Amino acid sequence: WYHQTLSIVVVGASGDLAKKKTYPSLLNLFEDNLLPEYTVIWGYARSVKTHQQLRDHLFPHLIQTGASEIVVKDFLAKCFYHSGKSYGDEAAYAEMIASIQQFESQSPSPTCNRLFYLAIPPNVFGDSAVAIKQVGMAIGNGSWTRVIIEKPFGRDLETCNELLETLAAELTEDQMYRIDHYLGKEVVQNLLMFRFGNSCWEHMWNRNVIESVTLSFKEPFGTEGRGGYFDNFGIIRDILQNHLLQVLSVVAMEPPLGDDGDSIRNAKLAVLNKMDPISLDDVMLGQYDGYSDDPTIENKDTNCPTYAAIRCWIHTPRWEGVPFLMQAGKALDEKLCEVRVRFKPPTTLKSIGANNATKLCSNELVFRLQPNPSLELHNNIKTPGLPSNPMASIMKMNYEEMPNLSNPDAYTRLLLDVLRGKQGSFVRDDELRRSWELFSPLLHSIERDNIRPKPYVYGSKGPADRHRWFDEMGKSQDPLATASATHPI
Ligand code: NAP
Repeated sequence: WYHQTLSIVVVGASGDLAKKKTYPSLLNLFEDNLLPEYTVIWGYARSVKTHQQLRDHLFPHLIQTGASEIVVKDFLAKCFYHSGKSYGDEAAYAEMIASIQQFESQSPSPTCNRLFYLAIPPNVFGDSAVAIKQVGMAIGNGSWTRVIIEKPFGRDLETCNELLETLAAELTEDQMYRIDHYLGKEVVQNLLMFRFGNSCWEHMWNRNVIESVTLSFKEPFGTEGRGGYFDNFGIIRDILQNHLLQVLSVVAMEPPLGDDGDSIRNAKLAVLNKMDPISLDDVMLGQYDGYSDDPTIENKDTNCPTYAAIRCWIHTPRWEGVPFLMQAGKALDEKLCEVRVRFKPPTTLKSIGANNATKLCSNELVFRLQPNPSLELHNNIKTPGLPSNPMASIMKMNYEEMPNLSNPDAYTRLLLDVLRGKQGSFVRDDELRRSWELFSPLLHSIERDNIRPKPYVYGSKGPADRHRWFDEMGKSQDPLATASATHPI
């Protein structure tokens, strides 16, 4: 692909995602010389703009990436813009594609690939896909057409199926790249290597050694004027059903048969297939005080959860009896996203002069996605010096301290994967369907039965009784397990 011709179309180029993520990520690739020499980038939307107006609109966002003005200007020279009456306006698409064909006809490579990035609301995905299919597909000489789409992929199983069917009528599964940008984060990308490149961990990665796994997402701010959108979705749809469940499936999967897209996604799907739909009995919901004061939220009596904690089980020989806990919340005490793998407590205490009253820290392996991406191993060591009692100690690998580190944004990494045709970090249709099968009954019962979330204070750690909930839910169901310390949530 690198020596072939590439035409990129950013559909919805006038929007928020385009300026904040799509164009800056393309700039990152351009700056690192990772776009083919013969690349052109067209923006399409309904807003009427000239090429120069699009460039002026993008410039401040591109400069913020830290790229030099010369690089930004060189990049913008490759960017053009075309408007149409709607996202299904085939005549307008055809005019833009005619310009692309002219560019392609002047390039030395006979293979001319096309990438469409749908940075538009999902209600116009279908119209865009029809227009792309009718007039936009790359033709012949081994060229490819790929289409990137963004969440939300529906709001339950039924709407997800509608969206999948609408798109499948126009595009094949191998042409579609559904972004979940958590899969593009360095620490998540490292999970495969960490788990399967180190025999010590793979040896321990099971119910014999692991007591529980907790995935947490915390945001230190509320909806801040964007509640109108959020109130229709809630934290479960916003974070748990997609981002955290995707990360969980990578943490829990069996070794994939290969590193190709389907092998990885088969292994992730196998995890989801061994889980039960989430039960209301396994959920704690919260809403921060003052949530409905957001002027964009119409229903002032909304029961929309801004915090949710969920327990699930994976019924495989590896994981039977090990609770997987996921929590996500807005307006909490800190910004954080991490996976915490907790190991069972030691069984022999006499040999270290300890007894049940001795305070030992729980052995935990922590994958911190944000902030400060890092890996941590929590151990007990002997207190240095003359004492012989145990002391908690953390072995830490901090990405930001690694020399010559290049840690590209998740979108940049994922865009490069699209160009390389690597689908392993994109969500396949069957994974998506299964994720909604797991969550839709819960979401429907919350809405149908008007389940009230527990209140919590803005900026706190969440609902007051979460300690009791985590201690209770975090217990391994292995009959041989001994009680461990309090859960650190
Ligand atoms: P946006 O700014 O609201 O919309 C993008 C463009 O689509 C707009 O500039 C507008 O362009 C057009 N548009 C907006 N509403 C429309 C409507 N009702 N009918 C037809 N066209 C409409 O959206 P966005 O924030 O860029 O997000 C794009 C997609 O990415 C969405 O699916 C969103 O959920 C997803 N996403 C966004 C972010 C983010 O950070 N923004 C993060 C994750 C996922 P014209 O009026 O010029 O046609």
